Amino acid sequence: MRESLRTARALLEHVTPIHGDCGQLCGKACCSPDEEGKGGVWLLPGEESFFPAAWIRPGDPPRLMCRGSCDRRDRPFFCRIFPLIGIKTQKGWRMRLDQRAWALCPLMSSGLRGLAPAFTAAAERAVELLAADPELRPFLRRWAAVERTFHRVELGASDHDPA
Ligand code: SF4
Ligand code: SF4
Repeated sequence: MRESLRTARALLEHVTPIHGDCGQLCGKACCSPDEEGKGGVWLLPGEESFFPAAWIRPGDPPRLMCRGSCDRRDRPFFCRIFPLIGIKTQKGWRMRLDQRAWALCPLMSSGLRGLAPAFTAAAERAVELLAADPELRPFLRRWAAVERTFHRVELGASDHDPA
């Protein structure tokens, strides 16, 4: 396990998007499988080692198949920062709302300021840490590039993973 990934995951272990359990607002919408019962969340390079092989759909990148819930300590990195995404700006990596989350996340309508500041700050620190790792930075850029394509399509899909 890469130290950067281990630390980034740990930064988000005890913070939540809002004070309280936001899953009660939406019936844990972001943990529900899609219409085909597939679901799945991108795993960062090296993150597969946290999970049993049977839970992972191989591919480029491999995905963790959703089972409806995860122990907080076991969630993939991209679930830990949902509904945020890290974007490289001229001032460094910054967090903004992931456009894919509009389809399912009630927190989106309150905007970035509606999220707990500690959550957003921890997510930004974690993304900066990952981006400082030359082997993980290209993956973050790839993830952001895929999200950008959703700015141009109808935001009605329920597939919430960062694919
Ligand atoms: S969809 Fe949004 S509000 Fe619902 S559990 Fe996920 S992050 Fe929280
Ligand atoms: S992988 Fe993520 S989205 Fe899927 S069940 Fe676990 S926490 Fe929820």
